Amino acid sequence: MSNLEIEPDLAQSNPISPTRQRLIAPRKVSLHTRSGATVNRTLPHRELRTIGPWCFIDQFGPVSNQNAMRVAAHPHTGLQTVTWLFSGSVHHQDSLGSNSLIKPNELNLMTAGHGVVHTELSIDSESTLHGVQLWVALPETARDSQPKFEHVSDIPSFENDQAKFRIFAGAFAGQTSPAEFFSEILGVQVEALSSQIEIPLVANWEHGLLVINGSVSVAGQSINEGELFFLSAGSNTIKIEDSMNSRFLLLGGAALNEPIVMWWNFIGRSHEEIVAMREAWETGSERFPEFENVIGERIPAPQLPNIRLTAR
Ligand code: MN
Repeated sequence: MSNLEIEPDLAQSNPISPTRQRLIAPRKVSLHTRSGATVNRTLPHRELRTIGPWCFIDQFGPVSNQNAMRVAAHPHTGLQTVTWLFSGSVHHQDSLGSNSLIKPNELNLMTAGHGVVHTELSIDSESTLHGVQLWVALPETARDSQPKFEHVSDIPSFENDQAKFRIFAGAFAGQTSPAEFFSEILGVQVEALSSQIEIPLVANWEHGLLVINGSVSVAGQSINEGELFFLSAGSNTIKIEDSMNSRFLLLGGAALNEPIVMWWNFIGRSHEEIVAMREAWETGSERFPEFENVIGERIPAPQLPNIRLTAR
């Protein structure tokens, strides 16, 4: 995914100190693909920038898969992209030579580190496309690392009388995703089999619940399809009610304790770093290698806002 939502006021907004719980409704963002498809974005939000290391949540579809996603070559730095589908399939190619087709219940994890370029194209023969793309901010120790791409088709899963769980990031109930992350993190898909689900949490982590299908309630708060419910650190369990037939993602992790600058598809630590990353892309630097791909175009970087970007 390429982030074409350039909002200086969002980039510069001071996050309000998060209350213990917060419900975030998605906003529509145009992806500028061939079809003009829109995505529902819940993170970053003016009042909530990260949940643990998770810093970006886009949900796309369900839409007709005919040209639903066609994202030409674009760069990333300092983050990991997590692609997780509910229907359809997407062809990923990148400057590492990766050539991967992802289907539902599989994980594509791209660690951008110092710099990577990728393309994403939905496969037309599938009827609908529905999925999420999530970004993870890399910690200082990994943000400038060699880029890496992982496709995991065998995601750990288990079922109890409450729900079916698939663990794509981190560890949950004794099962661990084989994908490599660089900070304390959790990413689990939950398909409800009952109207009440109680899930243990790491008490000093932040968590978010993103409803994919149906609706659920937490502490009397209704969370509808597409909405994100944020729970700050301090709970060792979450009770989810009215959950029958719902599907949601549970995301979590230790609060990001480093100020970051997130602009376009880059995460850095200063205005100067972002300027250098943008310049490297615009000038065709070897930081962002060219590669043969089925789309064959590149997305130019937008103009920087007329203000200094500040790490937050
Ligand atoms: Mn991308």
